[in-house]
Amino acid sequence: MSELNSSISEKLGSAAMRKTKGTCSHCHLPVMSLGIERNIAGTGTRLFCCYGCHLAFQVGHGYMEESTTTWLLIRIGIGAFLAMNIMLLSLLIYSGTFSEADRLVQRAIIYLIWLLSTPVVIILGGPFIREAIRGALETRITTDALISIAVLVAYGYSSVAAINGSDDVYFDTVTMVLVLFTVGRFLEASGRSQAVRDLEPIFLAEHGSASVITKDGLKVIQISNILPGMQLRCIPGERIAVDGVIIEGYSDVNEASITGESSPAAKKPGSLVSAGCINLSGVLILECSTPASESTWAIISRSLRESLKSPTSIQQLADRWASIFVPGVLALAIGTFLVWSVDHPFSQSMTVSLAVLVVACPCALGLAAPLATTIGISLLAERGCLIRDGAVLEVLATTKGVAFDKTGTLTTGSPELFMIKTGIETEDEVLRVAASLEIASLHPIAAAIILEATNRNLNLYSLVNHKAIPGLGIEAYVDGVHVAVGSSLMINHLDWEFSDQISSHLELLNDKPYTLVMVAWSGSVRGILVFTDFLHPQAHKVIKVLKDDGMFTALLSGDRTTISKKIAQDVGVDYVEAALLPNEKVAAVERLRNLYGCMIMVGDGINDGLALVEADVGIAVSGATDLARESADIVLPKDGIHLIPWVIKISQEVRKTIIVNLAGAFSYNAIAISLAATGWLQPVAAALLMVTSSLAIIINSLRLKSLSSKMTM
Ligand code: ADP
Ligand code: MG
Repeated sequence: MSELNSSISEKLGSAAMRKTKGTCSHCHLPVMSLGIERNIAGTGTRLFCCYGCHLAFQVGHGYMEESTTTWLLIRIGIGAFLAMNIMLLSLLIYSGTFSEADRLVQRAIIYLIWLLSTPVVIILGGPFIREAIRGALETRITTDALISIAVLVAYGYSSVAAINGSDDVYFDTVTMVLVLFTVGRFLEASGRSQAVRDLEPIFLAEHGSASVITKDGLKVIQISNILPGMQLRCIPGERIAVDGVIIEGYSDVNEASITGESSPAAKKPGSLVSAGCINLSGVLILECSTPASESTWAIISRSLRESLKSPTSIQQLADRWASIFVPGVLALAIGTFLVWSVDHPFSQSMTVSLAVLVVACPCALGLAAPLATTIGISLLAERGCLIRDGAVLEVLATTKGVAFDKTGTLTTGSPELFMIKTGIETEDEVLRVAASLEIASLHPIAAAIILEATNRNLNLYSLVNHKAIPGLGIEAYVDGVHVAVGSSLMINHLDWEFSDQISSHLELLNDKPYTLVMVAWSGSVRGILVFTDFLHPQAHKVIKVLKDDGMFTALLSGDRTTISKKIAQDVGVDYVEAALLPNEKVAAVERLRNLYGCMIMVGDGINDGLALVEADVGIAVSGATDLARESADIVLPKDGIHLIPWVIKISQEVRKTIIVNLAGAFSYNAIAISLAATGWLQPVAAALLMVTSSLAIIINSLRLKSLSSKMTM
């Protein structure tokens, strides 16, 4: 077990190293570089990936005081209004309307344009300049720096020109570029937040609030601060904030987001309710039973946030390129200026190099991978599939084979104890010992044994030195007597014996497709518990879809060969190995990986944790409640094996989208830079093109959302 723990922590450790500062409060993309931390009234300190998200979050969140939001919009409005007027006034000058006689009027208009553009530079340029300075202090040249340099150089040059009585001013360019970039950032941020908008209800587990009943009446407090014993009021339409029990009221509750059950459940006083479910019809008063931070809802929210935090390797690569790209663009702009100034006037050389600066902002490059990955993670989360980090999606897209555990994975995990064979002991005595050993076990077999013992009203023994041997069974002592329950391998492991009577039972049962569990004490087997298990209703279809998609499928079971082969045949897997101990399952996964390539292991986390860690992607089918103890990369909702082909498809679509995005971003930059450097693009057109390219990446990524709804499961 310690081996398992260390490999899990290694795996988790390497993921943690890749973790970023956090996720953006607005678009939930990982914050790769500097990030912006701001205290937003009513919501505490929030982290944003860029100025656009900061802006969009402030505008979009009602928590803020209205006056602040209004002031923000007024600022953008003023900036845009002034920029339009500057553009119109500049057109008057360009059109040559003024004759020599109007020289004074023309000068006055230039001063007016200068006067109008100064507040725009302060209002709209301020945030870019501030971020550029922050980056510079950490010796980083950011995209904000490119915009700031372009704006400040053009503004500075134009101011000097205005003072010197020249008409060669570019205030219109300065202000238009700022308006385009501000609106562009805002649109970008809004587009990105579309990607994960559907996840907002899940994040409420950490940021939302609820009405708690106190002796002074109702009090609204943060959900994360609610403790057991507190009483809450939940009105129709509201999400239930905590796991608890209803003490007053009747209602229907939609539990789809937590349990996957789509039809509403009727609740009455005494009913249990889960955090995150939606109260549909009546007012409920409930009492919290577990701390809010431990509810499944909160666990899902935390795990989702963690998974969004870590950048994938493609993303890290793109970020590295972007970090080289930005200083490269600056160098290119300076180079362009120098080359142009050899045989062109200063002002023309400056405009061309400014266009290079503006057009080459690698915003699209930075968006290409994280956006698609984030959408992928959120699509999975919407169906209750949680993923450890985005990098898993990358690996998943290259899957060549899928290995399944048997009990609880390809079978329903609710085996039925239908026969007990004994030697000289009674059935009840054998069952009593078995149930006493299984009481703390999570193995599906244990539940069936306990159920039968309860039906027969058997009292259980108290045990000492209880020891579970993964993949074999359990041993312990009752009043000094050594007792054990498990497979026949367990009996061999203990070096105990099979009596003649038990051996003849075994011989008769040997070729039957049953799971056999030995109950033994004092060195010999006393009884055999015989179980049937049932195929998961979707198992056959899942294997068929995977095989149709060209995947290799395998069954790796710890159970006997006869039943494992029968199940393998029924579901149609390509390959089966049985009677495997946990470490033998690991070796089998390794062998299959060497033969076929990237392997997924699907299991329920019981006796297959090591194999889940060993596989390229480990998928657990045990439901989000067990998330904390999982060794898996992906956790499916309970009974969610039918989602496996869909999960793989999503990962492949995400990968395709990233490749298209990256190819698009690179071609855009190559073409746009060439046009700008050769003087074919005006700075304003360059800014427009730049914003359009980012929006194109966003639209292409958002396409993933509609694609997923068309995919069948
Ligand atoms: P599978 O690979 O089919 O999911 P496991 O590896 O969990 O099966 O278990 C393999 C075999 O070990 C079981 O079929 C059973 O005979 C025995 N075994 C494991 N754990 C227990 C337990 N807690 N009680 C009884 N038998 C057990
Ligand atoms: Mg199992």
